Amino acid sequence: MELLVENNEDILYRNSHPSGNYSVKTGYAFLINSSSLEQVADQDYKFFKLICSLNIPPKWSLFLWKLVMNGLAVRSNLIRRGVDIEGACVSCGMMDEDLQHLFRFCSFARYAWNNSSLHILTEINESTSLRHWIQHYILLFNSEDGKRSERLQAVVGVLWSLWLTKNGRVFRNERGYVADYFRHLSQTMNSLESFLKPDSRPKEHSRHLASNGDQPPGYCRVNIGRRGDLPTTPMQGDNAVILKVDGSWDKTTGHAGFGWAYSLDAVNFWDAGGEYGTMSALHAELTACLKAISWAKTKGYQCITICTDSFSIVQMLRSPNRREVRLLWTLQELLKVGGSFDMCTLWKVGRDQISQAHFIAGSCRRNLVSFSV
Ligand SMILES: [Zn+2]
Repeated sequence: MELLVENNEDILYRNSHPSGNYSVKTGYAFLINSSSLEQVADQDYKFFKLICSLNIPPKWSLFLWKLVMNGLAVRSNLIRRGVDIEGACVSCGMMDEDLQHLFRFCSFARYAWNNSSLHILTEINESTSLRHWIQHYILLFNSEDGKRSERLQAVVGVLWSLWLTKNGRVFRNERGYVADYFRHLSQTMNSLESFLKPDSRPKEHSRHLASNGDQPPGYCRVNIGRRGDLPTTPMQGDNAVILKVDGSWDKTTGHAGFGWAYSLDAVNFWDAGGEYGTMSALHAELTACLKAISWAKTKGYQCITICTDSFSIVQMLRSPNRREVRLLWTLQELLKVGGSFDMCTLWKVGRDQISQAHFIAGSCRRNLVSFSV
């Protein structure tokens, strides 16, 4: 367990043991015995530099930093700031919800750690603060595996997924705790994979069919709702919802997944639903749109904006003579459900704009999972 020679950030423990090596024992001893304020500040600064240099998405680094600095909005922190709320953990209801409980000692967190590939036991050294506990593993895995450590990424992945699951419970009424956690974990690890290999996403059949042609960006759209006019911006306001939709397709198995995310303010998008099936790539894109607008129907929206990255679908809906016979039933169903809204506008957008829906679709396809909020 020698320190990496080229990384200055890793020399936090250089005086903690005569050998200069990092070990679990000396690591804990150093962290726990750091009493001088300057020493702690210096340690924070070095740890912050280390977090920023890790090979993880920047939003994870920021999250990790807030977590170790006790800066996340958990109930104990909100109460300390004068917010009048119940203090009990929303998951188990047994203990006060502070970061140590939420990410380590809650039965839900223990389950998550025990079922991770890391086999981390949360009970060991119970008196250690969460901050030192997390620092310990980050430093240990960084020291042993380097900055690209998969174990280190897995630690942050579990922490991030626990946070998403807690927020899902609080803000989106998600109830299937364990299922929600594994869905968030799957999305989290997918997004890490994309972050590490930005060009890895396979190009799908429908995206080869055509380019935007003569349409300027943002103007390739069609309204299949009752009102025929075409808005110039996505609809917002009462009874209006914006959906990001995507289909995912595996050419080896023919398995497809569909995902959609929704927003009421065009800024924050939330996971809305996902399903899986077996069909062609273009059919998967079309089915994803149908599933999403059917979901919006059950929620009572009257104006919907669908964002899809499939040019073919928008073109098919715009020109009846381009409609594919093999997809006729799904198309008819789409036109029927779409026609029951005041406005049902489908917009061709860039692939990067629907990544949230893409992750849901891929996850539902691979794990044969369906869900809806
Ligand atoms: Zn709890």
